[in-house]
Amino acid sequence: MDTCIFCEIVARRAPASIVAEDDWCLAFLDIRPVTRGHTLVIPKTHAALLSELEPALGGRMFQMAQRIAQALRTLAQQDQGFSCEAVNLMLADGAAAGQEVGHVHLHILPRYRGDGFGFHFGRKAAPGRSELDDLASELRAAL
Ligand code: AMP
Ligand code: ZN
Repeated sequence: MDTCIFCEIVARRAPASIVAEDDWCLAFLDIRPVTRGHTLVIPKTHAALLSELEPALGGRMFQMAQRIAQALRTLAQQDQGFSCEAVNLMLADGAAAGQEVGHVHLHILPRYRGDGFGFHFGRKAAPGRSELDDLASELRAAL
């Protein structure tokens, strides 16, 4: 496997501005932030895709993300120069979803009015209930 930059950060062989750490996860600031305070939460053990991630570790990542989302809001109350009115969590699982670094990571994006960021949802026409029910049934069978 090629060297994984996020594993290098976990091993402290690559620099990172660390926000939080526990036995399972590490959180650090994104070097190309979408908004100021943009943080990434990663599992300390390598997993390229969600399918390779132990489910309990996904839970640990989300717990850390919750704490950081709260810390971003707290900081915005304490520091007039820092903005966080709301938070988006985002995870790209696979290249077609926009994943560029092949080590699972959860983005925590501080949001505020006028931050210039937005998701573009190119929505399809609303399907009928029977089409939704058929697809839900197929997905239940795939679980
Ligand atoms: P994604 O497109 O979901 O794979 O996001 C990868 C993110 O990792 C991007 O937002 C990058 O700016 C960020 N990134 C890449 N290398 C580093 C690094 N060495 N330290 C911090 N963030 C990084
Ligand atoms: Zn890795």
